[in-house]
Amino acid sequence: MTLRTKTILGIAFIEIVVLAVLVVSAMDFMSTSNEKQLIQRANSSATMFAHAAKDAVISTDLATLDDLVNEFMTLEDVAYVRILRDGNELACAGDKALLERAMQNDESLGSVDDGIFDSRTPIEVGGKPYAYVDIGFETAPIKMMLQDAKKAIVGIASLEVVLVAFFSFVLGTYLTRGLSRLTSAVHRVRERGPGYQIQHHSKDELGEATRAFDDMSAKLEQNYQDLMSAREGAEQACNSKSRFLASMSHEIRTPMNGVLGILNILEETNLSKEQQKLVTTATESGHFLLSVINDILDFTRMESNTLILEHKTFDFRHCVESVADSFTPTAESQNLILHCYIEGDVPSKVCGDENRIKQILLNIIGNAMKFTHEGSITVKVSAERKDENKVQIHCQVQDTGIGINDQALRYLFDEFTMVDQTYSRTKEGSGLGLAICRRLCNLMDGEVTVESQPDVGSTFTFDITLEMSDELISSPIAVHRQDLINHNVRVLVAEDNRANQLVIREMFKRLGVDIDIAENGLEAVEMSTQYQYDIIFMDISMPQMDGMQACQKIRQFEQGQSNQTTIIALTAHSLAGDKEKFLESGMDDYLSKPIRLSQLVEKINLFLTEEQNTASVQKSDPLRLKEQHDAHITKVTPQHNENKETLDLELVDEIIIKQVIEDTSAEVLPILIDHYIEESETRLTKIYQAMAAADKDVLEFESHTLGSSALALGNRTLSNLARKIEHLCLDGQHERAFTYKGELEQIAVASIEAIKERKQQGFNEPTAN
Ligand code: ADP
Repeated sequence: MTLRTKTILGIAFIEIVVLAVLVVSAMDFMSTSNEKQLIQRANSSATMFAHAAKDAVISTDLATLDDLVNEFMTLEDVAYVRILRDGNELACAGDKALLERAMQNDESLGSVDDGIFDSRTPIEVGGKPYAYVDIGFETAPIKMMLQDAKKAIVGIASLEVVLVAFFSFVLGTYLTRGLSRLTSAVHRVRERGPGYQIQHHSKDELGEATRAFDDMSAKLEQNYQDLMSAREGAEQACNSKSRFLASMSHEIRTPMNGVLGILNILEETNLSKEQQKLVTTATESGHFLLSVINDILDFTRMESNTLILEHKTFDFRHCVESVADSFTPTAESQNLILHCYIEGDVPSKVCGDENRIKQILLNIIGNAMKFTHEGSITVKVSAERKDENKVQIHCQVQDTGIGINDQALRYLFDEFTMVDQTYSRTKEGSGLGLAICRRLCNLMDGEVTVESQPDVGSTFTFDITLEMSDELISSPIAVHRQDLINHNVRVLVAEDNRANQLVIREMFKRLGVDIDIAENGLEAVEMSTQYQYDIIFMDISMPQMDGMQACQKIRQFEQGQSNQTTIIALTAHSLAGDKEKFLESGMDDYLSKPIRLSQLVEKINLFLTEEQNTASVQKSDPLRLKEQHDAHITKVTPQHNENKETLDLELVDEIIIKQVIEDTSAEVLPILIDHYIEESETRLTKIYQAMAAADKDVLEFESHTLGSSALALGNRTLSNLARKIEHLCLDGQHERAFTYKGELEQIAVASIEAIKERKQQGFNEPTAN
């Protein structure tokens, strides 16, 4: 309802109420005063008449009485008149019917029911009533007059209501016109910005309001212009800052790369231990400086919106795996478990900026490594199809590190923020990494979030949207498969564990390669002397002859030959110093168990290309091999930390089960489990016997094998305990190792029961892309 309507209705309502009260009280007053007048008139007329007729009544002068009566009848509104003495009528005039009815003296108009006000007045003689005069007055004229008056009053009141409504309409229109002008001026300012003037100023309060509006609009316009020019200035300053930073970063990067190159060359020369330490520190600082500069450069590009994402087809799964792989040496050295699981429905072929996705992953996984001192880091990737062309990738990096407090979580993704801002902080960083990640995710229609609890760990999650691609890209496995077939590669695997034999055979089957299997080191040596293998995968712990001895024998046999077979250790060992031992025994490289198909492929490919390209390079150069290893690392790092076994209490790790299915097949897995159960039971019996007989060598060997085969099929808890026992034996604490018999029995029964149950539930192949 408009203000105008409200004004009209309000005023009309008040007017109607006031007028109604006035009309009712006026009518009441008029009827009371008329009644009073009538009664007064009746009484005075009767008294006068009685006085005039008194002598004629006493002398019974009927002729005079008749004259008096007739004369009285000429008075207005008199209906009848009668003189009575001792009940006899002396004279009368007026309506016969009225004279004949029984007369009743009326006191007020209220008692009149026949339209006649009856009045009886005595004629007194000597103070006593001698005769009576009855007079009747008609009340109809009074009533009629009252009715006419009522009509006139209501008419006047209605006219007044109409007039008031009209004038309030005019007033409302006048008042609201000023307000409407103000309202439309406000809308205009909102739509087109400040500056608009109403310029219509009356001399009343509304005029003042419009004047105030005009002032405000003019001032706002002025401020707005000031702000715009300040913004332009700030933008210019920001642009020059960005340009300055970009050119400075570039200028620093170029000589820095030179410095790092020289340090690299210096590292290769003959240096004393002290000098080597200094060069390493300088190299590390240089790399750190470069990474900070790169971050600043990226950030300035994002600030000035000049960072453009690439749009190329790439293998997303491979991209994640390669980043995760690159962290394995660090995980190993920090004794952390690094696990990467990519769900089956995550597509391989997508379109986007591979390097930028790697950058996000490197930063988030790198932070997790930096801020986790013990436990694990798990990378999980899943995907959700948005439509025909788009897929949303969901990536989670979970660590068991130091965590982040609630206050810091609020500004974590802001630029240049670090939770530990103190000068004594232990970790280096620019505080730009997460800010860059957030911007990159935003550029890919996604976002990054974090949940964290101090001393428990953090989970960073990012979602990005990528386009699906139909373009043909060569999957690494497909390419290598063809390479392997073309090369007609001959492979020998020395492995005593039947379950592991089955897994490796299945993996090679997927690559289209048939392999030979040696049951132990001795058999491996014999077979390698009989046949020319390109690659030998050698388990380390084997009965009769272990992998290192076998390798030494093979190398002795090869002495004088131009071609050496590539020997790669398959090991569940990864204690500090183990790598060096393998390399010293003549191995070319090693792979940590459980082995993944992608790692196997990479390793084979690396040695095949090496053979083709750099035949001149000495394969057994330990330094070179270490570098190769760092570039082609394994994904799952076995754990040897006493405090860690509580971290993963899962009896059957579903992630490992999924990986095994991916690397082999869902049909093979039940067979593998059967082999594993059968072997583990024999192994466990041997372990219990060794514990009872205090035989530390058998205990060490068997618990090592149990540890690796249990991990390969997801009995993580059992594997952890077996490893612990093995390491106690290795550390010379075999007495302590023997005390774990009870716990081992309990966990072994529960783990084997759990994997049997898991087998009963059945396995599905992951969805192919
Ligand atoms: P920086 O280059 O310093 O690592 P980031 O932006 O990547 O900068 O990280 C900002 C800060 O967030 C880090 O300095 C650290 O305090 C905190 N942080 C990041 N990731 C983690 C994590 N996984 N656990 C604990 N703190 C973390």
